[in-house]
Amino acid sequence: MHIQVDDPEVAGLIKAEESRIENTLNLIAAENHCPESIMEALGSVFNTKTIEGYPGRRFHAGCVHADEVERLANERAMQLFNAEYVNVQPHSGTSANLAAYFSVLETGDKILSMGLPFGGHLSHGHSASMTSRCFDFSHYSVDGKTERIDYEEIRMLAEKVKPRMIIAGASSYPRLIDYGRIAEIARDVSAYLLADMAHIAGLVAAKIIPSPVPYCDFITFTCYKTMMGGRGGVILAKKKYEKRLNSAIFPGCQGTSPVNVIAAKAVIFKLAGEERFIKIQKNILKNAKELAAKIESRGYRLITDGTDNHQVLVDLSGRGVDGDTAEKALESAGIIMNRNVIPSDAGSKNMLVSGIRIGSSAVTARGMGRSEMARIADLIDTVLSNLNNEDALFGVRKDVERLCDEYPVYGEEDT
Ligand SMILES: *Cc1c(COP(=O)(O)O)cnc(C)c1O
Repeated sequence: MHIQVDDPEVAGLIKAEESRIENTLNLIAAENHCPESIMEALGSVFNTKTIEGYPGRRFHAGCVHADEVERLANERAMQLFNAEYVNVQPHSGTSANLAAYFSVLETGDKILSMGLPFGGHLSHGHSASMTSRCFDFSHYSVDGKTERIDYEEIRMLAEKVKPRMIIAGASSYPRLIDYGRIAEIARDVSAYLLADMAHIAGLVAAKIIPSPVPYCDFITFTCYKTMMGGRGGVILAKKKYEKRLNSAIFPGCQGTSPVNVIAAKAVIFKLAGEERFIKIQKNILKNAKELAAKIESRGYRLITDGTDNHQVLVDLSGRGVDGDTAEKALESAGIIMNRNVIPSDAGSKNMLVSGIRIGSSAVTARGMGRSEMARIADLIDTVLSNLNNEDALFGVRKDVERLCDEYPVYGEEDT
């Protein structure tokens, strides 16, 4: 590899990262292992090309193949998600959201979205996000008992606040969303409806959970979570927003968009229609349910008592350990996941994080199934029950390595 000559230091880090990925269990709900064809597209010469504007209407010469690859990505995305419009240029989910907001709203306009402690995303108007300085956000929560979305609360807030846009969609919410019900509320208060399906796009693409597309004006997502297609964002929408969305992305929020990333998006939108992808997505759902059941059976309380998607949210508050401590102990044993705020942390003064979020996507992508989920649940429980027991943690680390050896991420060539 040339990088070994040009920069042995970075080359060494890439090797080390490859080894970390192969030898640890990736339970980060916001990650996935993408096919190698995605890596090839990302590392391709399309990286060279500067594009501004849209296919057939560019501001630099030499776009013949870039035009074709962007058109391919567009056609495939529209077909896959049954959408009237698509934009594959957003750098990220956050840029996609920002452009969607600015396409139809003015600064200061009101938006109603899910609050962060209940599962919402930073870019949905959290105070630390620039979005909160551009628009006037109000937030809905979840039902105190069921921890599920309370549609009556959304209706009540929508009627009181009169937002110009409502956002459906979350980063940490293990249940399905009834887009039809939120669409009804949006219609009644004349608000635009945006669904942010960043986490669940792969499950939607495989048509195994309900799609927000028929109900929404705008749908945004990222390609690197369940979608397993490399990084970057996408906007889907009703055709009538085409002009406004196009100019909101370029030149509104972004300059050039990386054509190598657009090429990777085109590849995943093809693969997502194929049996192999659909099977992985089905297994992601099954594995999340199995993880949830096994973790619960070991005495842990799950947010909403279970899952309908790829995420399991565990409330550790009854176990005398906080999310941060749990995350670090698990990492030391080779089990990688993230601490996560849970509904009961809302309003906490000391910024307490009482949960962990477990995702089934990446372990499923490397081929693990039902019996491995039971093993993983056992390993997690062993770590959380033996936080200061070096021997126990070391034992788990060894078991994790054995499990990883059985299921290599990029081990086999399947050409
Ligand atoms: C991950 C996520 C995003 C952000 O995507 P970036 O590409 O990191 O900007 C946006 N919205 C939701 C709901 C997410 O979960």
